Amino acid sequence: MRTTATTCPYCGVGCGVLATPDATGGAAIQGDPDHPANFGRLCSKGSALGETIGLEGRLLRPQIRGQDATWKAAVTEIAQKFNAAIAEYGPESVAFYGSGQLLTEDYYVANKLMKGYIGAANIDTNSRLCMASSVAGHKRAFGSDTVPGTYEDLEEADLIVLVGSNLAWCHPVLYQRIAEAKATRPGMTVINIDPRRTATSDLADMHLALEPGSDVALFNGLLAHLATAGAAEGRFARSNVDGLEQSIGAARAEAEDLCRLTGLTATELARFYALWTRTEKVVTIYSQGVNQSTSGTDKVNAILNCHLATGRIGRPGMGPFSVTGQPNAMGGREVGGLANMLACHLEIDNPDHREAVQTYWQSPTICTKPGLKAVDLFQACADGKIKALWILSTNPAVSMPEADHVRSAIAACPFTVVSDILPDTDTGRLADVLLPAAGWGEKSGTVTNSDRTISRQRAFLDMPKGVKPDWQAICSVAAAMGWGDAFSYESPSEIFREHAGLSGIAGQLGRDFDISGLAEISDRAYDTLAPTRWPVTATRRGGRFFADGRFFTPDRRAKMLPVRHRALAAEPCERFPLRLNTGRVRDHWHTMTRTARSPKLSQHIAEPYAEIHPADADRYGLCPADLVTLTGDTGHIVVRALITDRTQAGTVFVPMHWTSQWSSDGRVDVAIAAATDPVSGQPELKGSVVSLEKFHADWFVFAASRSEIKPAALPGVGYWALARIETGWRAELAGTGMPDWRALAPAFLGAEAGSRSVSFSDPERGSARVGLVEADMAHSVFFAARVPVGVSRAFVISALGQNASVHELLAGRPAADRPDPGATVCSCFDVGANTIQSAIVEHGLSSVDEIGAVLRAGTNCGSCRPELRQLLLKAQQPMAAE
Ligand code: SF4
Repeated sequence: MRTTATTCPYCGVGCGVLATPDATGGAAIQGDPDHPANFGRLCSKGSALGETIGLEGRLLRPQIRGQDATWKAAVTEIAQKFNAAIAEYGPESVAFYGSGQLLTEDYYVANKLMKGYIGAANIDTNSRLCMASSVAGHKRAFGSDTVPGTYEDLEEADLIVLVGSNLAWCHPVLYQRIAEAKATRPGMTVINIDPRRTATSDLADMHLALEPGSDVALFNGLLAHLATAGAAEGRFARSNVDGLEQSIGAARAEAEDLCRLTGLTATELARFYALWTRTEKVVTIYSQGVNQSTSGTDKVNAILNCHLATGRIGRPGMGPFSVTGQPNAMGGREVGGLANMLACHLEIDNPDHREAVQTYWQSPTICTKPGLKAVDLFQACADGKIKALWILSTNPAVSMPEADHVRSAIAACPFTVVSDILPDTDTGRLADVLLPAAGWGEKSGTVTNSDRTISRQRAFLDMPKGVKPDWQAICSVAAAMGWGDAFSYESPSEIFREHAGLSGIAGQLGRDFDISGLAEISDRAYDTLAPTRWPVTATRRGGRFFADGRFFTPDRRAKMLPVRHRALAAEPCERFPLRLNTGRVRDHWHTMTRTARSPKLSQHIAEPYAEIHPADADRYGLCPADLVTLTGDTGHIVVRALITDRTQAGTVFVPMHWTSQWSSDGRVDVAIAAATDPVSGQPELKGSVVSLEKFHADWFVFAASRSEIKPAALPGVGYWALARIETGWRAELAGTGMPDWRALAPAFLGAEAGSRSVSFSDPERGSARVGLVEADMAHSVFFAARVPVGVSRAFVISALGQNASVHELLAGRPAADRPDPGATVCSCFDVGANTIQSAIVEHGLSSVDEIGAVLRAGTNCGSCRPELRQLLLKAQQPMAAE
């Protein structure tokens, strides 16, 4: 089978992937050694891509109100409904909501249709939830949405400052690049600024566990310190930057109160400020911890102020660096896929820019004002102002704040189209028309990663019959709406050429995004296009921005902004005493539509959880593995308690991924208020407040089966979480009543005729254990108890499909002569925590590499290396004490 070079569809690192299809619809996956983002590395998610493709559960035909339909009928229906809404209520009565999963070519035609033909700017995207504050901060400071630096700067820096960024789990390959650079140059210092201790802290020489939301104060303190130290008024700042004195003034006004605002000690602040001040080559990396805030834009500008004031920008090894969450968040920004941007970093508010775009498109109209940003867009649906909505490649009924409200808003919209690869998502269930989209491996186009590198995503699988790439679906609808000539593209390359041509006009108008050097690219050259960092013009290719002190403002000077600390939108109070932080886990992606299909990825963390500080656990009377209900003003969730001092007292952390397909009440965004940044419109997804209660259940169940488990089939079930395993399914459940488990369990586990059931129960203690054996193989197991079930999941799951001793299986742990591997740490080689701890002791291992040499753990994707280091530290503590 032929190997195809393509790009990972997950995070904004944009790793190159070599995919070799197998004969069964899957593919062997390797990192592309020639791709400049990863040079052959892949993280756990990228490595498991082969498990996430295939046709299981796919949407393979359009549906109109739940009935299969032809593409022609679906397209006609969409065009009629959109045209009717526009005719009756005007262009602003319709909206598109897209995604950083869309390819640049998809995004380009959607933006062109909305802004140049429909004539409104109501096209927004889930990138609004991700990095809109960075876009706004860049534009305020630089006059353009420009990422100045490159990935090489991360390796060349002497000081890396990570702000609000769990790079080890969210951008693992960048984390690995920094870890390797630090191993080569131990003089490199890493500072991790995050309220929570994360896997990334493992790499850090200093972890500053600041108060949530106090980043502006922290960086204002730094600016004041730089000014006092005489480091803030050098030639670069004096010649190229406005607003220096005002910004320093604002920073100094806050400097007296820094310990109270940031929660850090004077010593911690002094160390950080001194290091930053004396280190020329400093890169400040920031992501969602900065952006997802009601002060997100000000936080970005507080960081940019420090780099502008010192001239530490645009030169090797230094600069501010926003890392994007999604594979094509940057491409979306480039085509104007946000409601407040025009194509190619041109401005909606600028009449010359509007005219240039309309002339280039030869379009009948052009939007004249910004459209609705994500939160406002769904509110407009709830208010009845949006009459027709098209959602592409995203799942806002899970990922938006106030997710239940958003779900109701979409349901209330008179006409909703959803394009997706799966029919049964929380959002897909609300669609009037479902359009089957091409998935990763089937579609073709370009994406842009966090350091402006444009890479090809190439198809290596046949397009399943009945599905279409998004650009084709959009162009078909545009044609049916009456604009066939303007959307008659025959290939993504044709769209790309048009996009590149428009960028040349943007370049002439003084914009940063200019890839006009690719405007004449042939189909063949597009097919073979190597990763290319923009800009690409007749005179320039790639490189850094701003070392010359020339910015993209009208006077070409950068702007420092006097910003001040603001409290988060909600403060903990008697009713909601805990701060709710959210984020990603290592092995899942967004709303799990792909990663949950992978048994490998599902074994690291198999259910939604809340990190709760031990002091709070005491306060609420919680034991490890209890279930808890977290309630915000707009909804509640039920998740497993993980008691840990990684999170601060008074704060809980919950991952963002779980949906209604994989858990009963794990959609954390239902409990998050939709407070937004006033400039960027980005919601505060890390700063809501909640109350906590122990979830009381009469029974708890852990089950694993080779047959599909249907949690709702258990009577009285009030909580469940489902996950895939190599041999089938696993579930955690809890509920009320006291069913007769021995009678119920076999059917629940999918007993077939001929299967043998083995069980025992202890009615006094309310516990029961049931195992099913088919053809002498363990088929499934079921453990019920009055308290959370304490069995070795790893052992039980590994025994399914084996000729295992049923009694040993029902004991829930292996016999003394067989070790229990413990919870999975290394997904690639399926190595558990107990195995690793035993090996450390038994072999006297003292480094992660030594663990790898003995167990292979951490030697493939490397995503588990921070956890290996933690296990090593844990094992070494008692040794050191001995
Ligand atoms: Fe994909 Fe991982 Fe690379 Fe991100 S770091 S692009 S998820 S392989």
